[in-house]
Amino acid sequence: MAKIYNVAILKGDGIGPEVTNSTIKVLNALLEKTDFKIKYEYGEAGFYCIEKYGTNLPEQTISLLRRTDACLKGPMTTPQTPGAPVSAAVQIRKMFDLFANVRPCRSFPNVEALKPNIDLIVVRENTEGMYSGIEYELSPEVGIALRIITRKASLKVVEYAFKLASKRKKHLTIVHKGNILRITAKIFKDAVKSLEPKYPEVKVDEAHIDAMAMQLIKKPESFDVIVTTNLFGDVISDEAAQVTGSLGLAAGANIGYNYGMFEPVHGSAPKYTGKNIVNPIATIMAAALMLDYLGEMKAAIKIENAVINVLNEGKVRTKDLGGSSTTSEISEEISKKIRSL
Ligand code: NAD
Repeated sequence: MAKIYNVAILKGDGIGPEVTNSTIKVLNALLEKTDFKIKYEYGEAGFYCIEKYGTNLPEQTISLLRRTDACLKGPMTTPQTPGAPVSAAVQIRKMFDLFANVRPCRSFPNVEALKPNIDLIVVRENTEGMYSGIEYELSPEVGIALRIITRKASLKVVEYAFKLASKRKKHLTIVHKGNILRITAKIFKDAVKSLEPKYPEVKVDEAHIDAMAMQLIKKPESFDVIVTTNLFGDVISDEAAQVTGSLGLAAGANIGYNYGMFEPVHGSAPKYTGKNIVNPIATIMAAALMLDYLGEMKAAIKIENAVINVLNEGKVRTKDLGGSSTTSEISEEISKKIRSL
């Protein structure tokens, strides 16, 4: 009997439903010829839920996540006002201990990038650091936010990064700010030091976050796997995505020991909602990362190859890539390629 994966689909806000629906079309094209099936289970989460449920992550959605194998998540609008619910993505990452945020950034054919031949992955600690969500207003004019770094969380994410580097170009770069944040950066660096002997094949080097921001522009092709704490990782993974072309192409995986959530790196881009003009490729690539996580590597590669073929031909391109094709035209073209591969 064919294996069935239960996948939670959270379409999110803004352009979320468009890019998620496009991705499901692509997955359905893929599933025509696979020896496994996917059962989609739709859930509600995001800014639009706050009015309806008083929260952006309703209880029934949390139960849905708990009974599924993985989650494909569309972008969501983050509430900004103090006291509002924290980002649904941040809640899910903490709740399911999705300690590694993994963002591959590579050059694509026909996509203008700063340099050719970029193929790097940013692995960002996903559960603590500056995103621990602990902030205090000491007085109306003074506030503090806590950057929490623990050895336990550092070891988990660093071990994930070592394993990834050992399967790739065997080069791991640790990014920190040890000259200023001496105590917290040392805990992170010590986690790396303690795991280094286990992976003798991996060459390890380090960079300060400010220098890294520069190096990513100057020589992005020289990196393989970069591992860092939460806030630094958030910033440099967006930078790396832009260095390789459009934010519309970059996907991210949130991985823990028991669950994975997969999403585009971009946000809900509210001004483009319903216009059918944004690029769905980031979410399609997120689905490929999800298949890889589920152990369906061949299927993941098939999606990636179809995307690369479509970009290579350059006939169907969205506005962010200099074309005028619609969101649905891109997903139809990728689906066609999948059927022909
Ligand atoms: P954004 O990524 O939504 O949009 C910034 C710009 O990037 C857009 O104006 C557009 O020019 C471009 N862009 C984004 N996605 C694109 C796509 N698929 N195709 C083509 N171009 C694309 O960032 P923002 O405007 O800063 O954030 C909007 C909302 O999204 C905010 O509430 C923010 O907090 C939220 N956000 C959510 C996530 C997430 O759910 N993971 C990530 C980032 C931002």
